[in-house]
Amino acid sequence: MTKVGYIGLGIMGRPCALNLLAAGHELTVSTRTRSKAEEVLEAGATWADSPALVAEASEAVFLNLPDTPDVEQVIFGEEGIASASGFGGLLIDMSTIDPGRTSEIAGELAGQGIGFVDAPVSGGEKGAIEGNLSVMAGGSDTDFERALPLLAVVGERITHAGVAGAGQMVKACNQLLVGSNLMAIAEAMVLAERSGLVSPAVMREAVTGGFADSRCLQVHGQRMVEGTFRPGFKSELHAKDARIVKKMAGQTGTPIGAFDVARDALDQLVESGRGELDDSAVIEIVREQAAEGNPAGTDSPGLDA
Ligand code: NAP
Repeated sequence: MTKVGYIGLGIMGRPCALNLLAAGHELTVSTRTRSKAEEVLEAGATWADSPALVAEASEAVFLNLPDTPDVEQVIFGEEGIASASGFGGLLIDMSTIDPGRTSEIAGELAGQGIGFVDAPVSGGEKGAIEGNLSVMAGGSDTDFERALPLLAVVGERITHAGVAGAGQMVKACNQLLVGSNLMAIAEAMVLAERSGLVSPAVMREAVTGGFADSRCLQVHGQRMVEGTFRPGFKSELHAKDARIVKKMAGQTGTPIGAFDVARDALDQLVESGRGELDDSAVIEIVREQAAEGNPAGTDSPGLDA
């Protein structure tokens, strides 16, 4: 069994850490708000006061943090992992962050003898709890082979996409697919709703199982039908991923018109103070835009108009 460290115990980190404990690994944890660690500590993990202390107690350390600056701070900041005395282990970054910065971080750590695998995931909170996330990994063959037994605890489909940064690049593509799909589902829901002919719930039920089906329709579609936007995946984090996709598209000269609509809707949620809601709340933006475009208010103008 491996001495594992885990930093970042939010929606995704907490269940992944619990699964590593359940698999018999010795776990040392740290996160910004200590109360978020309670459940993991009660399950047998040990608390450490800084990322450096987590690293000193561990052979491999997982990160599950919101954004690129958070990952940089935890690695290179004061009492960061890079300052740990004698940590020559492996860093596995499950956060979704900038692919280019990821390759630079891997290079800087290699100079200190620290292995690095970027391992962003898809599958949401449910996949994290069930330990069946899809993992998109980047790193050297050696680092990936070292990380694999631990990744197999949290994930089911584990793909070694290429060198460090390649995992984050696949994740950017994943978010382009998810965001465009999410937006199309929100629009189809509001279209059904405003037609007055069919409820969004019946429309969703009818198309599930056909060509339009997707995990997104099953999970986010259900949240839209119920109007429950407890995250899940916070809109502000999806908006952060959308910025990464936009940057990658700019750097590669790739048109992403379909996705831009989703990116705008996520930005509007954040700007209107709804960034903590689940990303399925993009349906609220579609409803608001529909109401704005209709002088009668939120009522549909009717199919004859
Ligand atoms: P989250 O619930 O906000 O959790 C992030 C955790 O990191 C929080 O507990 C936060 O502390 C902690 N943190 C932030 N900065 C820190 C720092 N400098 N030092 C130590 N801890 C710090 O987010 P999440 O949903 O778990 O997402 C984590 C990552 O996974 C993100 O990159 C996200 O894009 C990605 N992801 C999420 C999902 C999903 O469905 N949720 C799916 C796939 C990928 P506080 O508690 O104090 O805020």
